[in-house]
This record gives sequence, C-alpha cells and structure tokens, in this order.
Amino acid sequence: MLSKSAFCYSSNTKKMSDCVHPCPCGYHGDSQKPCTCAPAVVTKYQKRISGPLLDRIDIHIEVSRVDYEKLSGDRLGESSEAIRKRVQTARDIQHNRFTNSQSTDVLCNADMRIGEVRQFCKLQPEGQSLMRAAMSQLNLSARAYHRILKLARTIADLAGSEEIQSPHLAEALQYRPKLMMV
Ligand SMILES: [Zn+2]
Repeated sequence: MLSKSAFCYSSNTKKMSDCVHPCPCGYHGDSQKPCTCAPAVVTKYQKRISGPLLDRIDIHIEVSRVDYEKLSGDRLGESSEAIRKRVQTARDIQHNRFTNSQSTDVLCNADMRIGEVRQFCKLQPEGQSLMRAAMSQLNLSARAYHRILKLARTIADLAGSEEIQSPHLAEALQYRPKLMMV
C-alpha cells in the first residue's frame, strides 16, 4: 500500500492499521507520479471517506513514497529498542495515572472516557484558547475534541510532561485530517 501516496492510520488500540487512498487512482499528492483524477472527482472521493470515518481515527499522517535508496541505506534512525523504551515509559505513566485514580479499569489514555478526559486532560489558559480557535476553525465534532485531548495527553506523556502544554496540543491538532481543514 505504501507504494502509493496514502492517508494511513493506525487506530488507537486493538484494530488493524489500514490505509485510505487520497483519490481513486491513488496518486493524489504523490511526488513522482501525477494523479489522473479530475479535481472534482478527488473532492467527491475525499468527501465520501471523510466525516464520521475520519473522525474515528486518532492520527492522520499523509505518507509519501519512500525511495529505495533511503530504505536500503546505512543511515539509521532511532533504534527500535530506544523507541520501545520511550513508549514503555509513557505507558507506565498512564498505568500509574489510572491505578491511582478511581478509573482502575482504564489502562491507557486511549481507553479514557469523557470523565477521565475531563480529569486528566485539563488545558492551561493558552491551550484553551488554542483549542477554542481550532474547534471553530476546523469545525471539530465533540468526538474529535475528545480524541485530540487524549492524543495530546499521550504526546505530553511521551515528553514526560505532567501538564498538556500548547506544543503537545498543537501536535495533536496537526494529526487531524487535512482535507477536513479546508
Ligand atoms: Zn488520482
């Protein structure tokens, strides 16, 4: 699937990762191959997969084609072990958060219900104004609002921050689908 440009998403917990192509031919936004769809067709196609479906996805990242040279090169990114350690630390923070609260059935941020979101995803004034602006400009649903807060909480946990700070929230907002931001 990654040979084409795609909106890829990995759902928060148990579900499989999946990909949604950006247009019927699959090349809309591709750096090397032109999309052959008429603009109106692309818009119609994106509208069809947008709304409720995209709303249920936590992280939207447009993934472009990767050159063979980049994949086969010796240049290494962060090692899997290092990433695993970082993620485990964030998971431990979440586990402690919920076992020390009334919500012992919640294991991680993704499991939070509205009550936990209210309790653990408080925003500071700066974050509140950012969220207020995003809500109106991006026309976010209540579901999207809670998803963004949960994601921001996780980003803050990964950063080792007790508070959700504006950069954490901004990063979470960035993962909303671009086509819904138009
Ligand atoms: Zn196309």
